[in-house]
Amino acid sequence: MKKAELIKQTQSEFDAMLLDKSIETLKIWNCKIKDFSKLNTLTNLRELAIFSFETGTLNNLKELKNLEKLRIIHLPQIHSLEELTNLESLTELSLESLPSWDSSGKTLIFDNLNSLSSLTNLKKLVLMKAKVLNHGLSPLEKLNKLEVFETDNTFSVRDFAKLSLKLPKVKCAYFKAYHSVNYSKCKKCDSFKVKLTGIENNKMLCPICNIDKLKKYEIEFEKLKNEG
Ligand SMILES: [Zn+2]
Repeated sequence: MKKAELIKQTQSEFDAMLLDKSIETLKIWNCKIKDFSKLNTLTNLRELAIFSFETGTLNNLKELKNLEKLRIIHLPQIHSLEELTNLESLTELSLESLPSWDSSGKTLIFDNLNSLSSLTNLKKLVLMKAKVLNHGLSPLEKLNKLEVFETDNTFSVRDFAKLSLKLPKVKCAYFKAYHSVNYSKCKKCDSFKVKLTGIENNKMLCPICNIDKLKKYEIEFEKLKNEG
């Protein structure tokens, strides 16, 4: 498999490297590129990782029909994911915000996830610090091959509950009412806290001291799940 890496390179170095159409794996890291349109010519590409994609559009990738793995970090200007529809070979898709956004509360914002419903070969999906304006997580219900869904607490508890019912085998930290975190401890009993699922429940509780409250969240989660 022909691999190529561009790290801290310029537009002309990017354009020159992309003359080689045999590239199958490409990493573009920290480059000063304004025009990513030549990417579409790399039709043998199977793996692509880009950081950052601030000046790119998904139009620049839509011809890459053999692409199996796509990872993009920092795509703040992209709101429509429609151009991903034809990338049906994808088994792994990762769309991530800047790690430094974590504490600022900033998120990526997508119109909807509808185009992802045609990516039925996906086994792993990562949506890091991303919100969607319409239809929530429901377009993901058709991803029958999905094994892992890594995300943040940026969706409603109803969205997570519904998807967990449709895709019961998928590994996702938010497919239950709460999950334990190893970065915050209860001041009273020193247990690791748990994080509640759902953007509307964005808080942490102690699994010992708050056990009654947590039972209520568990019941609520099951109720939402059964509403389908
Ligand atoms: Zn406690």
